Amino acid sequence: MKIVAIHAHPDDIEWLAAGTLALLGRAGHEIAIVTATAGEGGSAEHPPEETGRIRRAEAAEAAALIGAEYRCLGFPDLGVFNDDPSRRRVTELIRAMAPDVVIAASPIDYHPDHEAISVLVRDACFAAPVANYRTGDAAPLAAIPHLYFTDAVGGRDREGRRHARDFAVDVGETFALRRQMLDRHVSQANWVRKHHAIEDHLASMEAWARRVGRDYGVERAEGFRQYRHEPYPRRPLLQELLGETVLTTAS
Ligand SMILES: [Zn+2]
Repeated sequence: MKIVAIHAHPDDIEWLAAGTLALLGRAGHEIAIVTATAGEGGSAEHPPEETGRIRRAEAAEAAALIGAEYRCLGFPDLGVFNDDPSRRRVTELIRAMAPDVVIAASPIDYHPDHEAISVLVRDACFAAPVANYRTGDAAPLAAIPHLYFTDAVGGRDREGRRHARDFAVDVGETFALRRQMLDRHVSQANWVRKHHAIEDHLASMEAWARRVGRDYGVERAEGFRQYRHEPYPRRPLLQELLGETVLTTAS
């Protein structure tokens, strides 16, 4: 199977879903990590172009740790919008990659790029099989891929309420790898300290995985929900691929 995870910035997937992707990669599935932007806003030391180059390289190194391909859609940081050219660009990517499962950002989250890429990916999955929707050279898909959302950062909506979750994945076995992946985002440690007032982003990431795990009685987990609205596929394909690491009973 082919699993493509699409989020806004380099390191978002490492925060929210990389342990799950590592499990899937280990099981022999083909994994790709895509970011909407190169995260070129995330630096106080380098200008945007250089920051984007650094962050793309860091993201590719992190992805390679789990044997995943890395791609960047090339939208500007803080410049992801749900408009016609953007939807065509995301649809073309999904057609070209032809995933069985797409993991997208949460539709409600703290950052506008997270919310915008979530909607773009949701609608690009819908459009991918529509032959008369023209995007580029890639052939239309045979069917809409299975679509999932990660948790929002912190698991809460903009009013601070915890959002719903369908299941979590026990990532105890691959957590060290996820930590190594985040550790490749060297340029982010300083930025997150400065802009988000997070002193140690590895510790902060781990605290979040423990917080999700606590809901299910395991040490570390990652949360997901499946988008099941007609005509999206409702078969729990990702859960089937993950087998007994899937946790559905919140403790
Ligand atoms: Zn982000």
